Amino acid sequence: MITEKYTTSQQDYERLLQEIWEHNKRYYIDSKPTISDEEFDALLRRLSEMEKAHPEWVTPNSPTQRVNETPTASFKTVTHSIPMMSLANTYSEEELAEFVNRMYKLVGRSDIAFSCELKMDGVAVSVRYEKGLYVRGVTRGDGKKGEDVTANIRTIAALPLQLYGENLPDLLEVRGEVFMPHKVFAMLNEQKKNAEEALWANPRNAASGSLKLLDPQETAKRQLSIVFYGVAEDSSQQLKSQFETHAFISSHGLPALPLLAKCRSLDEIWAFAEKVRKQRPSLPFDIDGIVVKLDDLREQQHIGATGKNPRWAVAYKFAAEQAVTKICDITVQVGRTGVLTPVAELEPVLVAGSTISRATLHNEEEVQRKDFRIGDTVTIEKGGDVIPKVVSVHLNLRPANTVRWTMPAICPSCGAPIVRHADEVAVRCLNPHCNDQKLGRLIHFASKGAMDIEHLGEKALEQLANRGLITTPSDIYKLTVNDLSQLDGFKEKSIQNLLSSIEKSKEIPLSRFIMALGIKHVGAGTAELLAVNAGDIDSLSKWSEEELMAIEGVGPKVASAVVEYFRDKHNLDEIAKLLECGVAPQKTVVKHSYRDHPFSGKTFALTGTLQNYTRVEAANLIKERGGKVSESISKKTDYLVAGESPGSKLDKAGALGVCILEEAEFTRLI
Ligand SMILES: [Zn+2]
Repeated sequence: MITEKYTTSQQDYERLLQEIWEHNKRYYIDSKPTISDEEFDALLRRLSEMEKAHPEWVTPNSPTQRVNETPTASFKTVTHSIPMMSLANTYSEEELAEFVNRMYKLVGRSDIAFSCELKMDGVAVSVRYEKGLYVRGVTRGDGKKGEDVTANIRTIAALPLQLYGENLPDLLEVRGEVFMPHKVFAMLNEQKKNAEEALWANPRNAASGSLKLLDPQETAKRQLSIVFYGVAEDSSQQLKSQFETHAFISSHGLPALPLLAKCRSLDEIWAFAEKVRKQRPSLPFDIDGIVVKLDDLREQQHIGATGKNPRWAVAYKFAAEQAVTKICDITVQVGRTGVLTPVAELEPVLVAGSTISRATLHNEEEVQRKDFRIGDTVTIEKGGDVIPKVVSVHLNLRPANTVRWTMPAICPSCGAPIVRHADEVAVRCLNPHCNDQKLGRLIHFASKGAMDIEHLGEKALEQLANRGLITTPSDIYKLTVNDLSQLDGFKEKSIQNLLSSIEKSKEIPLSRFIMALGIKHVGAGTAELLAVNAGDIDSLSKWSEEELMAIEGVGPKVASAVVEYFRDKHNLDEIAKLLECGVAPQKTVVKHSYRDHPFSGKTFALTGTLQNYTRVEAANLIKERGGKVSESISKKTDYLVAGESPGSKLDKAGALGVCILEEAEFTRLI
C-alpha cells in the first residue's frame, strides 16, 4: 500500500474542509469568488483523495457527501413543528394601502418599519440545522405536513451543510425557497428540446419536479439553488426584527435574499415595488412580486394569524405581461421526428419587450380543450424567459361562422396519413421521405449544438432542399460553387464563407457528431456520455441495449432508441456516406475518469527496467492519471517506480524517505 511521505493529519483535512467552505460562501453567499472554478475543483479533488485514504475522517458536512443517498420509493411525510403559512396576495396599490393602514391600527402607532423583499417564484421549503449541521429539508406541503426531501436539498451547492460563525444555536429551522436559475433552466430545456422531450413551462415547475425526484443523483443534475428569508425556530432566541433575520441568515453562511428595503411608509413600499419591477427582467431567477412584512418580530407574534395566513405580512403580485391579439391562422409544423404541432399565427403584438407573431399551441388536445379557433381574439402571456403562450379566448369577440379546429388527417407537408398512438398525445407523420421531416433533420444536423455549420441556417437549407440540391446531410458535403450560386442572397464571398465552414465542420468531436445524427431521446448530455464510453461511432453502432444501459446515466428509453437507430440500414448508409465525404468525428479523449486517482497531483520518478512497460509508456500512464514525472529524484518526489536492476535513484529514495513502488504494485494502482 502507498503510505504518504508526509502524513496528512486530520487537522490538515479539517483545514481544507474549512477552506472549501469559505470559498463556497464567497461564491454563493457573497458572489465574490476569489479563486477560479478550476482551482476550486482541485481543492475538492484533494479533499476527496484525503477521504479515500482516511474514510474515518469523513464528516456528513463534507461537500463530497452531497449526493450520498440511494433512490427512495417515496417521500416520508413530516409534520412541521411550526406551520408553514402562505401569504395573502394583493394585486393593487389600494390593497397594499389597506394592509399598511391595518398594521398601523393593529400595532397602535404609525412609526413602524416594514421589511420589503423579493417574492421568489420557487418551491417553499423548511430546512433544519442541529448543532450547526444540516439535518432535514421538508417541502411546504399543505402547510401542516410536508414531504421529507432531505437528500434532494442536500444536493444544492448553495446550501451550507454546516453553518458558519460563532454562537451557533443548537437548533435552527430556516424557511426559504428552492428555485432553478434562468441560465440552468434555459440550458436544461435546450437539452430537452434536442432530445424531443416535453419542455418545462417555467423554472418553478422545473424546480418543483426536480425536488421531487426519487433519485438524489438526478436532482443533483438539475443544479437547483436556494435562498432563505425567515427563521421558524431558533433555540438562541436572539432575533428581534425581520431585518436582523436577514443579516443573521447571511452571517451563518446561508444564502439570503438580495434587494431588501426597510420601508416606513406606503410611498416607500411602492417605490421599492417599482424598482423591483424594473429590475425583474435582469434578475437571474423568477420572482412574481414583492413581500411586505412587519419588521418587529415581537409585534408579528402579537398580531398573529388568521386561518392559514399571517396577519403581519402580505404579498404584492406583479401581473404577468399580457396582450390581446388575434389568431389569423392555425398552422401545423412537422418536426424532424414527424411530430405534428399546431401553431397560432398571430397578429404581431408587443409583449414583455418583444414582438410576438407566433405561439405554439402544444398539441391537438390543448387546442380542443381551450377551443381556440381561427379568427378568435385571444390573450397571450409572456414573462422573462418563458415561451409566449395563448392563455384564453374572448368568446364575446368571436366572429360568426368560426369552426372548431381539428388536426388535418394527412401530413401538411407530404400528404401521408397521420398516425395516433393510444399512449401519447402527439400525432405523427410516419413517412420517412416527408419533406418537412427531412428539412427538420437537415436543420438539426447543421445547428449549433450539432455540426455547427456557420452560414447554413434554416433559410439556406430550405432553399437547397426545395431546389432538390440536398436531401440528406451527406449531400451538404457535395455542394459546389455552382449549386450555391443558385441561392437567393448568396454572392461570391458568402459562397466561399459557406463552403469553408462546411469544410471546417468535418473535424468534429464525436459527441457532437452523435448529437447531429438526431437519434430519438439523445440530447447533448447523452451524446457526450455515449461518445466518452463508446470511443467511436463503429463501436457505438454495435452495442446492445444491455451494454448501453451499463453506462451510468443511460436508461432503457435511450438504449432502445440508439439500438433502433443503428438497426436501420438507411442510417448506417448515411453515416458511411458522411465518413466517405471526409467527416471525421474525433475520438473522445477520456477525461476526468481518473479524477480521484491516487496518482493525481503526485510526483514520480522512474528507475530500472519494467517488465510490461517502456519508460515512455509508464510515464504516459502516470500523466494520464494526473501525476507528474521528473527525471531526477528530490525531496519533492512522492513515488519512485522501481523495475529490475534499479540505479542509484533507489538508494537516494531510501535516504529521502520517498515511497517506492515495485512494478506489481504500480500495475495494481493503475
Ligand atoms: Zn409528412
